[in-house]
Amino acid sequence: MKKTGKVYLIDVTNRDGVQTSRILLPKLSKTMLNIYLDEMGVFQSEMGFPTIKHEVNYINANLELAKLGAIKRIHLEGWCRAIPEDVKLSFKNCPDLKHLNISISTSDIMIRGKFQGRIGFQDIIKSLNESVKTAKELGAETVGINAEDASRTDINKLIEFILSGKEAGADRFRYCDTLGTDDPITIYERIKTLAIATMFPIEMHCHNDLGMAEAVSHAGAQGAVESGINTYINTTLNGYGERCGNCDLVSTILALKFSHELKNKVPLDEHVDLKKAWKIGRYASYAFNIPIPMNQPGVGANAFAHESGIHADGALKDRRNYELYDPEDVGRGEPELAETGRIITTGEYGGIKGFRHVCDKIGISFKNDNDARKVLELVQYANLHTQKPLTDGELWLIATHPDIVKQIMTVNP
Ligand SMILES: [Zn+2]
Repeated sequence: MKKTGKVYLIDVTNRDGVQTSRILLPKLSKTMLNIYLDEMGVFQSEMGFPTIKHEVNYINANLELAKLGAIKRIHLEGWCRAIPEDVKLSFKNCPDLKHLNISISTSDIMIRGKFQGRIGFQDIIKSLNESVKTAKELGAETVGINAEDASRTDINKLIEFILSGKEAGADRFRYCDTLGTDDPITIYERIKTLAIATMFPIEMHCHNDLGMAEAVSHAGAQGAVESGINTYINTTLNGYGERCGNCDLVSTILALKFSHELKNKVPLDEHVDLKKAWKIGRYASYAFNIPIPMNQPGVGANAFAHESGIHADGALKDRRNYELYDPEDVGRGEPELAETGRIITTGEYGGIKGFRHVCDKIGISFKNDNDARKVLELVQYANLHTQKPLTDGELWLIATHPDIVKQIMTVNP
């Protein structure tokens, strides 16, 4: 029987999500997302930009968290342009970086429109090759080569791009549907062609300008796995990303697990734990300050709500009349205990008594008052840094890795 590939997830919230107009994340929140993505069994987190000064402390601190085992399995990867100068700067700033994705435009329309005749396709290939080799020389274990605007790039040029990157030592190719212009059938056929011609792992990076980001990603992934190669779907939390967003992480997993056809045809990395969806989706919404739409797949308020006569009657008789999956599948269903009476919180202007009370309640203990005071000071700064009440998870991270959190929050120019 013919070999079938598998689907792995690469979440790009901490790169594509945060670069989006009008939304942003504090570095502490980016760190929490890396931790939660790791807990969820996601293969890789595109953690940020190693060439940007204000990212450097955060990236190095997260690489340190991985060394200490606080981030266990996930690949923490940086993103930069596919030019040797950027690659060199990335490793100068972040010497422990092991995974890098490098990006360059490949479509005629972008090469003409952006580079204005200064460079052509062969210059792109040259820059790609030098960048891959530089990254490998400087210690990269994996390098992904991103073709920006791949969906509007001639297929033969993409094959040339892939084979040339493969030859230079790259590990994966990212097919960027940068403008969200592909449709499911087109991408399925194009990815199949690329897979058969190159037998090289392909990442799907699809945008949602036509409301098809998930459908297009899955169709591309199906084309890849049917050709016998592994594929990687790029996702973001709650679909945040440039313009109309990227492919939503939770919807992507739901489709691979519960779509009648996809669940049999497109196997998902078995490390992925959908039960973490509720926790991570809600945290991202909180950290980004963007409410989750009521009708969001899996994590929206109405995802399991039934009111109209026929639906409520049917759901009461057998939930499978109107639900594909259960609240428990996405980590919902537990009653939430929100404090509605007296509450002690800690933060920017908090003191030691209140802080220790909060810590006791969530199971954080200290050797002595001195240790507690040191962490309290950091908690005050962290609250200033995130500008919103700290979550239990954030307090936990601050208390267990105070020195690293200090580094993460150091973003002075
Ligand atoms: Zn993108």
